[in-house]
Amino acid sequence: MAKNIDLTGRVALVTGGTRGIGKAIAAALKEAGATVYITGTNEEKTKKAAEELGVNGIKMNVCDREEVKKAVSEIVENEGKIDILVNNAGITRDTLFVRMKDEDWDSVIETNLTGIYNVTRQIVPLMVKKRSGTIINISSVVGFTGNPGQVNYASAKAALVGFTKSLAKEVAPRGIRVNAIAPGYITTDMTQKIPQKIKETLIKSIPMRREGKPSEVADVVLFLASDMSSYVTGTTIHVNGGLF
Ligand code: NDP
Repeated sequence: MAKNIDLTGRVALVTGGTRGIGKAIAAALKEAGATVYITGTNEEKTKKAAEELGVNGIKMNVCDREEVKKAVSEIVENEGKIDILVNNAGITRDTLFVRMKDEDWDSVIETNLTGIYNVTRQIVPLMVKKRSGTIINISSVVGFTGNPGQVNYASAKAALVGFTKSLAKEVAPRGIRVNAIAPGYITTDMTQKIPQKIKETLIKSIPMRREGKPSEVADVVLFLASDMSSYVTGTTIHVNGGLF
C-alpha cells in the first residue's frame, strides 16, 4: 500500500497513460492497489507502456467516439465497473494567435475538451448506477493565467474547469465526485518542446525555482481518487510550486 492510500478493489481508467504525467498517475494508482487501464492513440506504444507498468493497456483515441465506447465496454466486460476516471490525455499546438491555423484550434479543442466529454459521457451513467465514482480532469495553470502562444490550449484547459464544476453539481447527489488538477510546469515530453532560454526564464518565475515531477501530480490524483477526499468536489487543486 502506497502512502497510506489504499485503492484495492477499485478500477481506474487513465487516458493518455503512455508517458509523462499519465504514466506516473497509472504507476501511483497501481501501487495503491487499484486495477489500472491506460490508453493511448497507438496500439503498440500503449501495450508497451502498459507492460512496463504492469497494468492493462487499450488503444483509445479520446477523439474517436466509437473507439471510446468500445474501450469502455471492454473494461466493463472485464471488471464490471469503473470507479476512477482520470482524464489526462492532452496535446499542444502552440503558436501566436495571428498565425494559428484552424487545424491548431480544432485539434486542441477536440482532444483536450471534447475528448473529456467523449470519455466522461460513457462512464458517468455507469457510476450513477453504482452510486459512486471519482473523476479527475487534468487542466493547466495556463487555463487560469493565460499564456501567449497558447490561446487554443488555455481555452480548452479553462473550459474543462467549467465542465468540472457543473458536472460535480449534477452528480454529487449520486455519490460521484468530479475535480480538476491544474499542474504548472512539469518535466515531460510536452515541456521538452519549450526552448531552453524560455525555460530558464520560466523557472525563475516559479517561487520554488524548479519544474514539478509527474509523480507530484500523481500524488494529488491519489488524494482525489481516494476516500481521503470524500467531501471534496467541484474544485481545482493547483500543483505548480507557487507559480499561481
Ligand atoms: P505528454 O505529451 O507527455 O503525454 C500526453 C499523453 O496524452 C500521451 O500518453 C498521449 O498518448 C496522450 N494522448 C494525446 N492525444 C491523445 C488522444 N487523442 N487520445 C488518447 N490519448 C492521447 O503530456 P504530459 O504528460 O505533459 O501531459 C498530460 C496532461 O497534463 C495533459 O492534459 C496536459 O495538457 C496536462 N498538463 C501538462 C503540463 C506539463 O507541464 N507537462 C502542465 C499542465 C498540464 P500517445 O501519444 O501515446 O497516443
